Amino acid sequence: MEEIKKIVCQTEDKIAKWAEEISDYIFENPELSDEEYKCSAYLVKKLRSIGFKVIYPYMGFDTSFRAEYCSDSENNGKTVAFLAEYDALPGYGNTHDKTAHACGHNWIAGSTMAAVRVLKDISRYFNGKIVLFGTQSEEKTGSKVNFAELGVFDDIDAVLQMHLGRVNCVDTTAMAMTDYTFEFYGKAAHAAKEPENGINALDACHLVMAGINAMRQQFGADVKIHEIITNGGQSPSIIPEYASMWIFVRATDKNILEKAAERVVNIGRGASLMTGAEFKYKRARNTFYDIKQSKHLNSLMKANLAELGITELADGDKYHCESTDIGNVSYRCPVCYTTLGTSHISDAGLHEQGFVDVACSDGAKKLMHIAAKAMAMTALDVL
Ligand SMILES: [Zn+2]
Ligand SMILES: [Zn+2]
Repeated sequence: MEEIKKIVCQTEDKIAKWAEEISDYIFENPELSDEEYKCSAYLVKKLRSIGFKVIYPYMGFDTSFRAEYCSDSENNGKTVAFLAEYDALPGYGNTHDKTAHACGHNWIAGSTMAAVRVLKDISRYFNGKIVLFGTQSEEKTGSKVNFAELGVFDDIDAVLQMHLGRVNCVDTTAMAMTDYTFEFYGKAAHAAKEPENGINALDACHLVMAGINAMRQQFGADVKIHEIITNGGQSPSIIPEYASMWIFVRATDKNILEKAAERVVNIGRGASLMTGAEFKYKRARNTFYDIKQSKHLNSLMKANLAELGITELADGDKYHCESTDIGNVSYRCPVCYTTLGTSHISDAGLHEQGFVDVACSDGAKKLMHIAAKAMAMTALDVL
């Protein structure tokens, strides 16, 4: 096995440029969630050119795909899957209107593509199947949630993915998450002349914020809630007849999430009762679950990372990975989800303007090759 793993690393070295070009292409062609037409087509073309069978579009999702390579026609072995992401985020650049890879999903595309190509190139050493899922819209819809519900991971023996982060962490944790839009409908009136004739929809938003602030104490560190007012009226001289909010609710576990989410809706109802503004709310289509990692896969991953010189690993309980749709995958099949730290490259964290530079840096590329090697080695252990 040690010998084959050496061959894994040598093979990755040989295709390093190919993988870097992929990461660069995705970085230079940033597309918003659910609009990754160019990037998904590019990845699919690359995969077909190296002999993968590809279904694209996949499961009714225009910019998702499923690519597979089977090392033997009998298909008696295990199946290892990798999850590529390639969506970017809005609001970057000096004018805050540019789409950019501030979460490094170009790096995820590059590292997973490199891992599957390496495994395909050394497939004479194993019996099994390699699958690469192109999972669109991690930042918005979270297509992995739909795929998990549709059962596409139910015959997979291991799922591997890595993400850039502040620190190296194999036992990563992620919070379950859902989001709400709240809308309040009041009645406009002159704010100075006849305020008594108005119903202030913005007041309802303020009361929701006060209610959420009071609620935080009762849930402690298990729950995180962040909200913004997306419409707070048109002019100070008019009692706002319409106001709206966008609220994220996160919890350490999907059951705690449901309890917290119910209370947030009740706060909305209370605000409506207090102000007289009519209350409408909508829950996000997809709820992200917390992540349940496979201890066995993680121990394999740690040993392989150590071979590659990565021995300093953060404690997953202390290092949260916000929320990700891979959580739902982890409720259906064994998952290993690792972060590789970029703090030696820059202080910038994920989604910050500064992280855009990190995502395409030489330092990130070095980490991408470590990621590809470690994932391919761990896949080999499973296969
Ligand atoms: Zn992100
Ligand atoms: Zn991300």
